[in-house]
Amino acid sequence: MRTPSTLFAPLLSWFARARRDLPWREAPRDPYRVWLSEVMLQQTRVDVVVPYYLRFLRRFPTLASLAQAGEDEVLALWSGLGYYARGRNLHRAARAAAAAGGLPRTAAALRELPGFGPYTAAAVASLAFGEQVPLVDGNVARVLARVLRLRGDAGEARERAWRIAPGLLPRGRAGEFNEALMELGATVCTPRTPRCGECPLSPGCGAHRQGEPEAFPGRTRAKARPLLIWAAPALLRRDGAVLLRRRGDGELFAGLWDLPSAEVCGDDAAAAARAALDACGVFGQPHLEPCGEVRQVLTHRDLRVLLFRARARRAAAPAGLRWALPADLASVGLSSLARKCLRAAGVVIPG
Ligand code: SF4
Repeated sequence: MRTPSTLFAPLLSWFARARRDLPWREAPRDPYRVWLSEVMLQQTRVDVVVPYYLRFLRRFPTLASLAQAGEDEVLALWSGLGYYARGRNLHRAARAAAAAGGLPRTAAALRELPGFGPYTAAAVASLAFGEQVPLVDGNVARVLARVLRLRGDAGEARERAWRIAPGLLPRGRAGEFNEALMELGATVCTPRTPRCGECPLSPGCGAHRQGEPEAFPGRTRAKARPLLIWAAPALLRRDGAVLLRRRGDGELFAGLWDLPSAEVCGDDAAAAARAALDACGVFGQPHLEPCGEVRQVLTHRDLRVLLFRARARRAAAPAGLRWALPADLASVGLSSLARKCLRAAGVVIPG
C-alpha cells in the first residue's frame, strides 16, 4: 500500500524538468521578491502579474526602498492589478519589517505583519527561508483533492488539505515541494480538462484511476450575489481637470483615488450623485447630466456605477479632494473601475 507521501515522490523530479522560467524564480531567491510575487499572484494570473512585478521592482528594488515610499506612489504602481488592499498591506508590512531590520524568517513571525495570512507566510518562509512548513492555495487543494480523493467542496477540500499537507513534505525540501505542487495545479492539474497523460502523479492518483478527475473537489453551491448601485458624478473644470476623492479606510478600494460616489438606495440616482458631491463639500450643483454606466464584478457582489457629468463652478478643491488633469492621471493611484468610470465620463486617460 502506498502512503500519501510516496504518491507524491515523482513530483520534485518533474518540477526540475518542467518548471516555468518566471522572473521571481531567479536564483538566489530573494525574500522580498518572493513575497512581492506571492502577493501579486493572489487571485491574479501569471501573465498579468509579470509586467506589474517587473515595473514595481524597477521602482522599488528592495524592501528598504518600498518602506520609504509614499502610499500614493505604491498604489499608482498597483493601479489596474486589483485587490488593492494587497498593495496597501504590502507597503505597511514593508515599513514594519524594514523598521525591525528585515523580513522575519518563520511563518509564525511573518503572520504578525499586515497582509500575511497562513498561505503567504508559509510561501515566504518555505520558498525564501527554507522553513519546513506546508502551504495550501487553490491549486494545491485541487491536486490533493484529486490524488487523495478528498470529499467535499473546494472549501472543505482546502481545510482537509491543510491538515494533510504537513505529512507530505520531503525532509529539507519543503519550499521546492510547495512550489512544485502549485506549479502542477497551475499547469497540468487545471480546474477543467486536467492533462493526466502528462502528469507525474497519475500512477497513484485516485481521481484519475476513478476516471473523473474533474469531480474533485466537489462543486460549491453558488450563492446569490448582491448588487450594489453607486451614483458617481464627474465634476469637470474648464481646463479638463476632474475632481477626485480618496476612498477612506473601510470602504471598497480604500486608499485609491476615485470619483465621488454614493450608494443609490431608491430610484433617484441623480439625487444620490448630488449627495455624493454634498458629502465632499461641493454644494448646490444644479445640473448633473447622465453619461452612462459601468459594471464590475467584485469578489462577493456585483457593482453598477451610474455616471454623471457636471461643470465645476469653483476652481478650488474642497479639503481632502484633488483636481487631476488627464495628463496626470497615469501617476495617480486609481482602481481599474475608476479608470473605466472616468473614460465613460469622457475623461481621456493617457497610457
Ligand atoms: S493524474 Fe490528473 S487528476 Fe491526478 S493529479 Fe495528475 S492531472 Fe490531476
